[in-house]
Amino acid sequence: MSDRLERVLERLPETGVDALLVSDPLNLRYLTGFSGSNGLAVIAPGRAVFLTDFRYTERAAAELDEAFERHTVPGGELLEAVAEFLPEGELALGFDDAHLSVRQHAGLSERLGERVRLLGVCGLVESLRAIKDEAEIAHIAEAAELADAALRRIVGDGLEGRTETDVALALEIDMRRRGATRPSFPVIVAAGANGALPHAAPRDVEIRRGDLVVIDWGAELDGYCSDCTRTFSVGEPAPEARRVYELVLEAQLAGLHAVRAGVDGRDADSAARDLIEAGGHGQHFGHGLGHGVGIEVHEAPRLSQRSSDRLEPGHVVTVEPGIYLPGRFGVRIEDLVAVTANGPRVLTSLSKELTAVE
Ligand code: ZN
Ligand code: ZN
Repeated sequence: MSDRLERVLERLPETGVDALLVSDPLNLRYLTGFSGSNGLAVIAPGRAVFLTDFRYTERAAAELDEAFERHTVPGGELLEAVAEFLPEGELALGFDDAHLSVRQHAGLSERLGERVRLLGVCGLVESLRAIKDEAEIAHIAEAAELADAALRRIVGDGLEGRTETDVALALEIDMRRRGATRPSFPVIVAAGANGALPHAAPRDVEIRRGDLVVIDWGAELDGYCSDCTRTFSVGEPAPEARRVYELVLEAQLAGLHAVRAGVDGRDADSAARDLIEAGGHGQHFGHGLGHGVGIEVHEAPRLSQRSSDRLEPGHVVTVEPGIYLPGRFGVRIEDLVAVTANGPRVLTSLSKELTAVE
């Protein structure tokens, strides 16, 4: 049996379910290896079943963990077929409540009848996904390395006079040429006042001398994502821009230092936030310090004031404080970090000194 299947089975009793229905495509991929868009798994002690439709029979045969029995459902309505693969008798069936729609839930519940109680198991598979093994960390590190190389190349060509959209597109193409499946999210290139919007969309506006430019990008490679942000100065930065940059960098280094096994997401966030507050910019740092990265670019655990997640070896998280001055400029610095038994291991290789580019 695969290690992942074993871990999920171990967790069923404490979750209060006898069997688990997995429908979220990313959870499914994590547990079974299947990368198609229509599949379901029913996991119970002693039996793990995978269902797909005719289009994916071959792919399932090639990709699936052999611990799963494979079935092709005629007509392709997978949820309608679930009942015949469940254990006998009364049972509690867990499902991905972040994925199944209200309508699907109602249909399923009607079909399964009285003997099966449906229970949402929010975050069960996600919490397993959060702990990466060595091979997964290596995939993420490779995605980060590819993304770093693309950025060096694109910024090396200069930013002044190019539009934000042009730089974002060039970065995306360069990552694809280096083997990325796709960017792990739409690339952000935000100059001047646009940089004060944490999730700015690139505009057809030229980057000018004197602008700070926030670039937030990542690559997806072999099913794993990277995520990184750097802020550049086009020409020499103004004194205030430099001061804000240095404060964000100081907070980022404190955040990195705090990313250790046993530390709560809230305390890691505070390590960086306290410095930004002391610098008088608390109200200009309106998002959490970071998030987990893996199969998805935003996943567990969270580093924020509202997080009770406790960091463990195997977590891979971002550390990304920022200061955003509305109508003026923004600075964000983001690294990707693996939590290990020996402390944080930074997977991003780019310099964090404020760099003046052409
Ligand atoms: Zn990012
Ligand atoms: Zn991020």
